[in-house]
Amino acid sequence: MNIAENLHDIKSSFFNPDCLLIAVSKTKPIADLLEAYEAGVRDFGENKVQEIQAKEPEMPDDTRWHMIGHLQRNKVKYIAPFIHLIHSVDSFKLLSEINKQGEKIDRKISVLLQIHIAEEESKFGFDIAELEEMLNSDEFKKLSHVNIKGLMGMATLTTNQDQIRKEFKGLKTLFEEIKKRDLPDFMQLEELSMGMSSDYRVAQEEGSTMVRIGSSIFGARNYN
Ligand SMILES: *Cc1c(COP(=O)(O)O)cnc(C)c1O
Repeated sequence: MNIAENLHDIKSSFFNPDCLLIAVSKTKPIADLLEAYEAGVRDFGENKVQEIQAKEPEMPDDTRWHMIGHLQRNKVKYIAPFIHLIHSVDSFKLLSEINKQGEKIDRKISVLLQIHIAEEESKFGFDIAELEEMLNSDEFKKLSHVNIKGLMGMATLTTNQDQIRKEFKGLKTLFEEIKKRDLPDFMQLEELSMGMSSDYRVAQEEGSTMVRIGSSIFGARNYN
């Protein structure tokens, strides 16, 4: 496994060369992350709070940490001081907790709202009705220590490219539609986080601004 070579190959295959590559390093040792860092990667994605906490002090200071997995409210405080972007905000309760922890340390925390676009029930995220309810609520408008920078979505795990494309297209349409609205200052939609190892090309064709790529860079994950 040559991480630098993999990164080079992936970048060369980008449909949109300006799309941000987030190296998803969950389960991988620091040596692998450092190899990616040496090859120019600064953005790393993890899905467990404990793992980000353990890796953060081991990496250079200009490493940007992205929380991409389901986040429990009681763990927000551990990453609030340094997290660069939380992609996986899937409820108003979680968003409020992030706001509260941001207020405590006087830091505005950047987040994306995760939207449920897949067929599978198992994937997290707002559905459209939940999203509308939140956006229209008074409590939402009072948030002070979050920056909502965009949306995130995960397509259904399928080999059907048409279905994957349709789901990404749907998210992009929602993104453009919400952007046109009269939104609070803390909600400026710029980023669309969609695409992983198996579907980043399609995601970029449909307007992704950041892709979260793990196994194509670091090899298959070994969960033991
Ligand atoms: C693990 C993970 C990825 C990366 O998946 P690969 O198929 O290894 O590229 C992307 N997004 C999320 C939310 C993940 O949990």
